Amino acid sequence: KNGTIIVGAGHAGVQAAASLREEGYDGPVVLIGEENELPYHKPPLSKTFIKDAEARPQLLRGENFYVTNDIDYRPGLHVARIDLAGRRLELAGGAPITFDRLVLATGSRPRKPPIEGVGLAGVVSLREVADARLIRELSATCADVVVLGGGFIGLEIAATLRAAGRNVTVVEAADRLLGRVVAPPIGAHVRRRLTELGVRILTGATVSRLKGENGHVSSALTSAGERLPAQLVIVGVGVVPNVELAERAGIIVSNGIRIDERMRSSVPEVLSVGDVASYRHWLTGGDVRLESVQNATDQARLAARTIAGGSDAYAAVPWFWSDIGDMKLQMVGLTAGADSHVIVGEPQENRFSVYHFAGGRLVAIESVNRPADHMLGRKMLAAGFSPSREMVLQGADALKAALA
Ligand code: FAD
Repeated sequence: KNGTIIVGAGHAGVQAAASLREEGYDGPVVLIGEENELPYHKPPLSKTFIKDAEARPQLLRGENFYVTNDIDYRPGLHVARIDLAGRRLELAGGAPITFDRLVLATGSRPRKPPIEGVGLAGVVSLREVADARLIRELSATCADVVVLGGGFIGLEIAATLRAAGRNVTVVEAADRLLGRVVAPPIGAHVRRRLTELGVRILTGATVSRLKGENGHVSSALTSAGERLPAQLVIVGVGVVPNVELAERAGIIVSNGIRIDERMRSSVPEVLSVGDVASYRHWLTGGDVRLESVQNATDQARLAARTIAGGSDAYAAVPWFWSDIGDMKLQMVGLTAGADSHVIVGEPQENRFSVYHFAGGRLVAIESVNRPADHMLGRKMLAAGFSPSREMVLQGADALKAALA
């Protein structure tokens, strides 16, 4: 029996391996990861890891997990090609291996903007623990940091390094922060709060050039002609999915490896999950490619069920979190298509939630330091329950009573 090979040992790949065993799958499971590390949690890298010189990566599963569950974890291996006809994977430096089922959980990688000087030392994107180690090392001795991109990862790092006393400037091309991922009231709040914490924020601005001294970055020139001193530049301008393996094998790709409601690609014995997969979302009917731990792990669970013979369709409620300075942001649902919202709580107190409606139906809740709203939102969306705007304004007790 050839078993299942999982390519990518991130959140999705490791969960797929674990869930295969939980589903009673008894064939061989091979988990291939490119890094020479035991698989670890990515979210802490931009939050706690970079400020703590002693921090070690938080492992997704204990060291013994792979042996105990008969998962053949192979670190430090790059999969070079999929031979679909032969159901074989070709490895860069290693004998090919054959499979019955293949799970592509190759994730995504930081986008590198075509800016002069982006190759200088001290210019870093954060994806892997090696990047986080570099940021930790460089930020320990530098005074000025420039962050390209006002998305989650860039802002988390900005807040962390500001709290550690660095001069931090964020340069964002759009006219607001977090424009791709949250609604304007949240983006505006984050901007106000970060400014109060001493982070300088430039929107509607780009960096046109990075300049260096002796091969190390020393400053960033903005499109407005300002020269920002910088001994460390963080590039956080989004990611691109690692679709090349699939694409070269002729598997259909459209903003990501295209999958159906059971996580199968256009070639049914090849499944795909996590950051790399794109699909039609059950909640909105729109095409998405989501970048979150929830999406990676819930999809992986379902892929394992499909391989074990199940026929459930994906129906998990999407959620996400981010810690930016003293703001715990939590999102549940999808705001695409939302046409009105209700705000509860007090933005001035750094504690509020935005309930989003599309055609009168609750589709998402975005919260700042209001975890109870988030948890209730997860329950409401999972139950397919949509409160009225009035009910939301009456408060949590009214919502709980209506949901019960
Ligand atoms: P990944 O975790 O990226 O794993 C893919 C793996 O595949 C990688 O290890 C890669 O090396 C490997 N791979 C790729 N190609 C090959 C190949 N050809 N051969 C072998 N191996 C290959 N999400 C949240 O929900 N909340 C957060 O607060 C949050 N914070 C984040 C902070 C940071 C710094 C980062 C980087 C991400 C954060 N995310 C957060 C997003 C979350 O980590 C991702 O959505 C998640 O890691 C996706 O899991 P994945 O398994 O699909 O991809």
